[in-house]
Amino acid sequence: MRFANFVVNPMILPGKTIGVLGGGQLGRMLAQAATRLGYRVHIYEPQAHSPAGAVAHREVNAAYDDLAALMAFARGCDVVTYEFENVPAAPLQAIAALTRLLPDWRVLETAQNRSREKRWLRDQGLPHAQFAEVAAGGDVAAAIRQVGVPCVVKTADFGYDGKGQLKVMGEAGLAAAREKFRGQPAVIEQFIDFACEVSAVVARSAAGEVSVFPVSENIHADHILEFSIVPARVPADVKARAEALARLIAGKIGLVGVMGVEFFVTRSGDVLVNELAPRTHNSGHYTMDACVTSQFEQQVRAICGLPLGDPALLSPVVMVNILGDAWAKGEPKWEALLADPAVRLHLYGKSEARPGRKMGHFTVRAADVETALAKARELKEKL
Ligand code: ATP
Ligand code: MG
Repeated sequence: MRFANFVVNPMILPGKTIGVLGGGQLGRMLAQAATRLGYRVHIYEPQAHSPAGAVAHREVNAAYDDLAALMAFARGCDVVTYEFENVPAAPLQAIAALTRLLPDWRVLETAQNRSREKRWLRDQGLPHAQFAEVAAGGDVAAAIRQVGVPCVVKTADFGYDGKGQLKVMGEAGLAAAREKFRGQPAVIEQFIDFACEVSAVVARSAAGEVSVFPVSENIHADHILEFSIVPARVPADVKARAEALARLIAGKIGLVGVMGVEFFVTRSGDVLVNELAPRTHNSGHYTMDACVTSQFEQQVRAICGLPLGDPALLSPVVMVNILGDAWAKGEPKWEALLADPAVRLHLYGKSEARPGRKMGHFTVRAADVETALAKARELKEKL
């Protein structure tokens, strides 16, 4: 019986099947890490020929609310996880009744909606930007006045890569905000004039073992991550606070799996939690090329009940996202990246290059981050 087996042998060992909801690049890199360890990987994804499906043993194409298809998928897996944050929480509960689902669906439910996420941070007494909530059809302008300007208005649901956000600088922005968020639940956040942004990927096992990867410094362009720099160029106490917050959050939310935690570092040195993502994180891609264990292997270890791997950094590193924009003048010129032994290229196998779409990334290792960053910028230009 599955339940009895779960109690007696909580370890899901190589040879077993890991199911992943979502077929994007995070699922692809998870599948690559899992298959290297000898697991079988099944991908559940609405769209055929997904990046993850291409490297998995099986790809099931059905909608996230197709309960019968989800149940059939779950029955074929020893553990199910998700790589996509907008999977509805209700069907996840049904999966959890059939097989092991990690992280728990309640973790995703909290993190996938900005109102619930912000409220959770506030209730736990964790540092965050001041905010106000607006229900669908509510008074956006009143909530903006409550928080004050400048502020950022964000949809409560389905935001990613800065989609569904609007910065409001003054009274003039009120009308635009009212128009853009008409009929949608939203969160109004105080605008943080941050010194920089950092993030940490934390892993926690069912046994309560917690491990944090080195803190990454993140530079965004148009709200999309452009560079991750590790070690982050921030004082040691800022790193220590970000790491401690990530550990604290993993424990408080009952994480079993991995989670990306994004932070704003204010000019006065405060560390505020921006967002939680209960899965691997774009800013953790550097771990594949510069740490003993990658964030994807760590995710496999955490959800399969294995001991966690060593997160130690082996070299200073800079990660660069490759967006669809790089295809503006045809196929990017990969030669310069491929010619450099300190550079590793990762492409996600997406056929259509749209502006802003994450198509791949590369990492540059060097003796120090300034050298790596200078080279990364240069190589990005050459693409
Ligand atoms: P993703 O899921 O890709 O991280 P997202 O759409 O969920 O993106 P956020 O992380 O909330 O969005 O915002 C994206 C970026 O926009 C942040 O990393 C930051 O650079 C900027 N930003 C968001 N909120 C604020 C704020 N309150 N003050 C200042 N900058 C902000
Ligand atoms: Mg974010």
